[in-house]
Amino acid sequence: MDLTLAWLYGREMNIYGDRGNVRALEQRARWRGIDVTVVTSGLGDPMPDVDLYFWGGGQDQEQVNVAHDLQGAKGDALKAAVEGGAALLSVCGGYQLLGHEYRPHDDEPLPGIGLFDVTTVAGPERFIGNIVVDSPIGELVGFENHSGLTTLGPGVQPLGRVRSGRGNNGQDGTEGAMYRNAIGCYLHGSLLPKNPVLADWLLERALNRRHGTVTLPPLDDTIEVAAHANAVGRAGRS
Ligand code: GLN
Repeated sequence: MDLTLAWLYGREMNIYGDRGNVRALEQRARWRGIDVTVVTSGLGDPMPDVDLYFWGGGQDQEQVNVAHDLQGAKGDALKAAVEGGAALLSVCGGYQLLGHEYRPHDDEPLPGIGLFDVTTVAGPERFIGNIVVDSPIGELVGFENHSGLTTLGPGVQPLGRVRSGRGNNGQDGTEGAMYRNAIGCYLHGSLLPKNPVLADWLLERALNRRHGTVTLPPLDDTIEVAAHANAVGRAGRS
């Protein structure tokens, strides 16, 4: 089998170490003998039509530079890919711009593309710390660093419930958003090396898009599981 992963705005939005998610997806596919191609798409580039998309976090200024690039046909192509079954993981700044709008502190509101029925407004407090989330995919752990407060509309499900940490807005107990095979969340870390269950969830759905129903053979996740437990333990103490 083969798989193509598009890393969106990796040059423009890359200060929270989220590139580790690309490496985890690439490696977990290769360990199963899957031929993986990673393509990048940044400012001014066309939107590739692929199986799996990743978009990491970035600061408000980086988001200002990127938001308008995704408007129109480019954003429509990404939404069509998700409607067509592509898998997607977005973290923080990427997640916010896949909603309807992100209103930063000191700038005009930034348009999103409405892939997720969510809206984000920068709040007075920065949420920084370990976060544990109970989700239908399993227990997830990460590190959050955002001032954006995200509110979910009726057209999207939360990724899960916050067990410890702040999540979407520190008020309603939700974290992230899920729509079809697309996930938005505030879990940096990077997320996937410590959450192999989520990495494989994304890979299986990406592969299902062109190869029929795929169930990946298990890997020896001893190290990943230990890293996950260690992070959960730290979250419990924070
Ligand atoms: N600038 C956005 C915020 O502070 C996103 C930050 C991020 O990507 N970690 O909410």
